[in-house]
Amino acid sequence: MRFPPANVELRRAQLIFMLVVLIPTILTTLIAIMLLVLGGSYPIVAGILVLTLCTTGITGYILGTIFVGKGASLVRVQNDFLSSVSHELRTPLTSMRLFMESLRDGRLDPKQQAEVVVLLGGEIDRLETLVNRLLELSRMETGRHPFARDRIEVSAMIDEAIKSFDAATLSRPTKIEQQLEPGLTMIGDRATLARAIANLLVNSWKYSDDDKHIGLIAKGAGRYVEITVRDNGIGIAPGEHRDIFEEFHRAPEARDRGAPGVGLGLAFVRAIARAHKGKVLVASRPGAGSAFTLRLKRGRLPTSETAPHAHAHAS
Ligand code: ADP
Repeated sequence: MRFPPANVELRRAQLIFMLVVLIPTILTTLIAIMLLVLGGSYPIVAGILVLTLCTTGITGYILGTIFVGKGASLVRVQNDFLSSVSHELRTPLTSMRLFMESLRDGRLDPKQQAEVVVLLGGEIDRLETLVNRLLELSRMETGRHPFARDRIEVSAMIDEAIKSFDAATLSRPTKIEQQLEPGLTMIGDRATLARAIANLLVNSWKYSDDDKHIGLIAKGAGRYVEITVRDNGIGIAPGEHRDIFEEFHRAPEARDRGAPGVGLGLAFVRAIARAHKGKVLVASRPGAGSAFTLRLKRGRLPTSETAPHAHAHAS
């Protein structure tokens, strides 16, 4: 998903490139005319003009193709996003309308009325959570989310992630096999990173069968810290590897097994990784499990910043 700023950026880029093509064309044509007026040799002037014509023609064609393609895919992405959001909002709204109607009809006894009110509250909560998550994601993707810059002990951050994983998987507690490089530290937003790791862990749990094997590996790799969550779950077809990071996208196998979710988790993980100048990588095949790796820059605190919990905006 892209938010409107991408559109603005595209227009700005179009303007810049138009100037890059137009200004040199006008300048070289002027030089050629001046040479002609000053009695320059005809073959040189003709050469300059032909060269100008060829380069602007080729550049214009290349840029035109790029912009038309980009514009079309941007519009497609925005349309996909809008229809996904509308669909996700419509589902709870439809249930809420039905609940409201059954209350209005007055055919329910007080006990049933109380039950419907509880269900209505649940749908309102669901809607609120969805809207809040979308707003938060939008802020992250447009660089407006204030990420903390904590001095992080990776093992402590992983403990925090495992705690929220345990809380989310009470129905079927699962032990995580850990391989952590000792003494690993980095700079970043500890709570948000822990959420990203917990998200990957919960996905491993959701998308694997009863005999779950979930592993978590953390190691240093040069200027990066790599945190990998792997599982023996259903796996993901290679054709889906890019799309699963897009908002609301769920692989057909995930939908078929009725696992809860709306397809926002990996979009969050990607936004959080990018805010830490890193990325999230996936290695997976259907039936052969998955491995998601968060590769995050270790980062440094600015020299003036000595307090361990000072906040700064993500760059
Ligand atoms: P959600 O889990 O709510 O659907 P996510 O954004 O977290 O949303 O994941 C997007 C999709 O990626 C999932 O619907 C599923 O198809 C796929 N996926 C994510 N993690 C795994 C995993 N560990 N194993 C198999 N498929 C996965």
